Amino acid sequence: MSPSKVSNLDFTTFHNIVDGQPRDSKTFHQGINPATGEKLWNVPIATQQDVEDAVQAAEKAFVSWSQTPMEKRKESLLKFLDLYMSYADEFTELLGKENGKPRVFANFEVAAAVPKWIKHHCQLDLPEERVEDEEKVIKTRYVPIGVVGAICPWNYPILLSIGKVIPAVLTGNTIIVKPSPYTPYTALKYVELAQEVFPPGVIQVLGGDDKLGPMLTAHPGVQKISFTGSIATGKKVAEVCARMLKRCTLELGGNDASIILPDVDIAKTAPEVAMGAFINSGQVCVATKRIYIHQDIYEPFVKAMVDFAKNVKVGEYTEEGVLLGPVQNEMQYEKVKGFFEDSKKNGYKFAAGKPDVESGKGYFIQPTIIDDPPNDSRIIAEEPFGPIVPTQPWSDEDEAGSVWINSFEKPTAEAFFSGHKESGIGGEWGSHGLLAYCNAHVMHIYKSKL
Ligand code: NAD
Repeated sequence: MSPSKVSNLDFTTFHNIVDGQPRDSKTFHQGINPATGEKLWNVPIATQQDVEDAVQAAEKAFVSWSQTPMEKRKESLLKFLDLYMSYADEFTELLGKENGKPRVFANFEVAAAVPKWIKHHCQLDLPEERVEDEEKVIKTRYVPIGVVGAICPWNYPILLSIGKVIPAVLTGNTIIVKPSPYTPYTALKYVELAQEVFPPGVIQVLGGDDKLGPMLTAHPGVQKISFTGSIATGKKVAEVCARMLKRCTLELGGNDASIILPDVDIAKTAPEVAMGAFINSGQVCVATKRIYIHQDIYEPFVKAMVDFAKNVKVGEYTEEGVLLGPVQNEMQYEKVKGFFEDSKKNGYKFAAGKPDVESGKGYFIQPTIIDDPPNDSRIIAEEPFGPIVPTQPWSDEDEAGSVWINSFEKPTAEAFFSGHKESGIGGEWGSHGLLAYCNAHVMHIYKSKL
């Protein structure tokens, strides 16, 4: 039987959650609906005192939560999932408003991805190792780290924050979630709801401005930072963590390539490849950002992608049949427009889309394909994080790395998710990901007494 809804959960008022209680602030900010430019609801701006109180509550909660059997922790997560799912429609609407993604994708994030992530992780266990020789037994088990700070981006506001909460609390840590100031609402609300299930201090949330991330990162009581965001900010987080030898996981930007072999079914593959570039309006760290097409099929493949791109409906999350929403915020919109300006200035060919982004209500950009720009162009070298992608012909195979075959990039709960080089350090999800929230505890037991 699914649990009944909480009577006083209101999707139009938002609070920080500290030690199990809603908390407001003297100052507020608002997110913006990127489809309309409309200001959304007030979000309290957390202060240093709020951070102090949240860390103190998390440390206190850690004492008993870390000793709670893993099976009980799983029960709590699954109970929370039931409660959360009874609000799936409300969370879908909220996500559509704060982020702009079309309803079909908002619903996928809320009602398909989150349950899958929770259920899969609740099937996992931490490994225990035992090594024995004549002299001794060595036992290794994995124990929680302590208070975790989750610093989150705006492109998947629920999945990429709850994707930190799940492994953290499952392994016995307590966590303070810091959503992006652009998309704070869904995280504030699901953490509020989580108080119905979890003891105070186990899952907390603080919304705020640009000062909050650094406050959380620098706090000596926070034992680990799990950060998802840009490379530039990731480096700042790493610097602070390095000074304190604090653990950190960095999930950063990417510049992923799709390689199209000459024997593909063009009609079937071209739309799939285009969606890999344009899904979530290109605002995905693992979106396809460069498309290398074998020269023997280059022209018909690009044409099939262009035909697909021209028929993609771009619009507000509420509209029927919309595949692409707006770019999420003004900062990102201006950044993406910079790639259009650079491509126009350098005379690159716009196979789909136009060199000048039409301005109007909302941060909408039509899906755009740049046909064969040079290797040193910005659009090849940098991550636009928007619906614009370059294609280039190739004739020799010499690529390697994280690979999806016969599919665009679809991260999943079952597999460790991590970046190499400037795409990050460490990773999360899957059984390997649980260990990112643990310390190894090794016991050496000598058989003969001293
Ligand atoms: P961002 O780096 O601007 O912000 C990420 C978070 O860091 C936000 O919550 C922000 O408030 C906070 N922050 C800002 N300054 C900080 C500081 N000095 N110390 C600590 N925290 C600080 O990134 P974004 O624009 O929100 O997200 C887009 C980027 O994220 C893209 O580059 C994208 O590729 C990357 N991304 C990576 C993954 C992944 O899993 N690898 C997933 C999604 C997005």
